[in-house]
Amino acid sequence: MKRILTNEIIKYLDQKVKVCGWVNTVRAHGKILFVDLRDRGGVLQLVCPPDIAKDLRPEWVICVEGKAKERPKGMQNPKIETGKVELAVEDLKVLAKAKTLPFAIDTSGYEINEEKRLKYRYLDLRRERLRKNLIWRQKVIQFMREFLINEGFVEVETPILTKSTPEGARDFLVPSRLQPGKFYALPQSPQQFKQLLQVAGLEKYFQIARCFRDEDPRADRQAEHTQLDIEMSFVEQEDILSLTEKLYSSIIKNLFPEKRIQKIPFPRISYKEAMKKYQSDKPDLRKNKNNPDELAFCFVVDFPMFEWHENEKRWGAQHHPFTKPQVEEFAETSSHLSPHSTSLNSAIKEMKKHPEKVLAHQYDLVLNGYEIGGGSIRTTNLDILTAVFEVFGHKKEEVKKKFSNYFEAFSYGVPPHGGIAPGIDRLLAVVLNEPNIREVMAFPKTGDNRDLMMGAPSEVTEEQLKELHIKITKPKGQ
Ligand code: ASP
Repeated sequence: MKRILTNEIIKYLDQKVKVCGWVNTVRAHGKILFVDLRDRGGVLQLVCPPDIAKDLRPEWVICVEGKAKERPKGMQNPKIETGKVELAVEDLKVLAKAKTLPFAIDTSGYEINEEKRLKYRYLDLRRERLRKNLIWRQKVIQFMREFLINEGFVEVETPILTKSTPEGARDFLVPSRLQPGKFYALPQSPQQFKQLLQVAGLEKYFQIARCFRDEDPRADRQAEHTQLDIEMSFVEQEDILSLTEKLYSSIIKNLFPEKRIQKIPFPRISYKEAMKKYQSDKPDLRKNKNNPDELAFCFVVDFPMFEWHENEKRWGAQHHPFTKPQVEEFAETSSHLSPHSTSLNSAIKEMKKHPEKVLAHQYDLVLNGYEIGGGSIRTTNLDILTAVFEVFGHKKEEVKKKFSNYFEAFSYGVPPHGGIAPGIDRLLAVVLNEPNIREVMAFPKTGDNRDLMMGAPSEVTEEQLKELHIKITKPKGQ
């Protein structure tokens, strides 16, 4: 007999059916045993004669056959989808027994030690809240895909084993066995690939991209996160902002209609104004911060191009080096510094002299006080790009060597382009009112990047190290 799902049972009243799943609860009622069976459709009440069900324990996996019957009036449970029906079991097979679970799964789970939940994540995910979160995640991603494909975007996968791209964090490195002594880096983002896809003429790219950043332990960060990575050619900043606004307001209207977006169009606030008015570059613009259904999106624009890295005593990029500085605009406003020289060259000279004064064509998408994405228009002029690296303290020749592939690609006809990369984890955490991003990820790691379920990172064998020509020198004190 073909298996049906518990929530399909209503269609089979008075017929014989087969259902499979986990024992949710067992209750004895006189001589009869009531078993709640759980599958991906929901929960269904089974009525079992004691002889075939007397040993059943919670979380055993079973398969039963029997007749679907309407429950007697007064015994119906309007709280569950199958509440009008029960299954009179005639045959029961135990497919797998189960030990007692290390924690309860019929609660929200917030009360349980999180390390324990992460160690047994496959059990934690049996919890209804987490199962629903995963399904919401899939719905949001599916919506993004369909929306962008309708707008003419092409989804492209980019490599995971690649070369370091500067995004401001530390790289995860993977040693190469075939090229001893050389390493791949896991991408901090597909930044260079998505730009090279513009040189390739794709014009509208997106990807649900995994990004890897080896950051120091932080409570609500993960070593890998997922972002909706977007890049477009022949656009200006406002084109990217309005596409993002259209996408995000459609997601909310279609999937979370109970939420209220405070203002559409999303306010555009300059970095300077945000810092002055809210002392933050990710202001929380909600009028009523206690209302869980209020969403205040905004764009923060015109960030400074450079930031001073005190530890290294040098300038770095506020976003990343490929962001286009507002160098022409800067030349205009600072023309009094070097009168008669509004040409690009003199603007570049001014930028090198006064990096602190230069703004960038850069923007962040902010939601309820969280930065949920960032992007920029890119520099396609190689003189400007070289100058940006010079501000960081690199020598011209060194830059050309390090980014030779990029420089070469840009010499073959590069369209003006720009993009954005909103994070998916944070958006979900906010709209699902979850306290942190781990609650919306299937298999998150701890704040210090350990995977407690898989036991990663872990040591490897001597043979593996030898093949990679790697010797471990133990850190002092170990
Ligand atoms: N690559 C950037 C990031 O991951 C986003 C972008 O500039 O498109 O933050």
